[in-house]
Amino acid sequence: MNYRHIYHAGNFADCLKHIVLTRILAYLQKKDKGYFVLDTHAGIGQYDLSSEEAGKTGEWQEGIGRLLAMDRQNVPPAVAESLAGYLGIIESLNPEGEMKLYPGSPRIIAQMARPVDRAFFIEKHPEEEQTLFHTMTRAMGRNGNLHFRQDDGWVALRADLPPQERRGMVLVDPPFEERDEYVRMAEAFLKGYRRWSTGIYCLWYPIKARREVDEAAQILANSGIDNILRAELVIHKLDTAKRLNGTGLFIINPPYLLHDELQALLPVLADIFGQTAHRSSLEWISPPK
Ligand code: SAM
Repeated sequence: MNYRHIYHAGNFADCLKHIVLTRILAYLQKKDKGYFVLDTHAGIGQYDLSSEEAGKTGEWQEGIGRLLAMDRQNVPPAVAESLAGYLGIIESLNPEGEMKLYPGSPRIIAQMARPVDRAFFIEKHPEEEQTLFHTMTRAMGRNGNLHFRQDDGWVALRADLPPQERRGMVLVDPPFEERDEYVRMAEAFLKGYRRWSTGIYCLWYPIKARREVDEAAQILANSGIDNILRAELVIHKLDTAKRLNGTGLFIINPPYLLHDELQALLPVLADIFGQTAHRSSLEWISPPK
């Protein structure tokens, strides 16, 4: 195992992914009935930013560090509203004010879950899964609605669907250690979607070079599936070698108002996180019907 998320926790790509995650969950909570969440690549749940590993890259300082330092008075009210739930979770984990603990997707999902909601967290690597289980149990107490499993997320994306609930979401957040992971993600999504076409799917990807991303987008565009949104942030010129130059999300069946929300939010995030580039884009790969 090479990939460990502690080196990247709280970077700008995590911020975008986790802000969108909180917004999708908030929309799901507009109805009282319980929802289902599948987190196919869960990681360890939360991250100590004062650790040696996080300090080695310092990526969080260019991500959540910048977001917390922004001038909140100058943020448009609609954008402040989109960020409020996410920043509230960050603040609740760091009550002293100093940024130390960063919530991964399991912590965000668990913290937002109501007693009627269920979540499944899949992590392939046994040590990481053990850390996930113990950390989350310590932080949140035992909760029969939160299920942790050491398994292959690509298999779960098919096998755990459809859920018994009618509504819910799937977060797919692989490590992208292999070049073919973009295509793999698009193809694995299609298998899951065939089993549960009404779920919301949020597929995360890094932008290093353009070609791999476009290949995955093409698979989605050719799938005949409606209602696929693509949101991107680019913070470095794309020819910058070996860097995470940008990040994106494919969101399938996004909640109705999420598009307009992202339209206001993404340019603000591009300004905050941008370094040698400050770009954002939002497009329908295929529009809703
Ligand atoms: N989703 C997490 C978050 O937002 O906090 C971060 C996940 S991290 C990017 C990717 C995780 O996937 C790593 O912890 C890695 O060990 C795990 N992983 C790698 N291959 C996997 C697979 N086939 N199935 C499930 N988990 C996998």
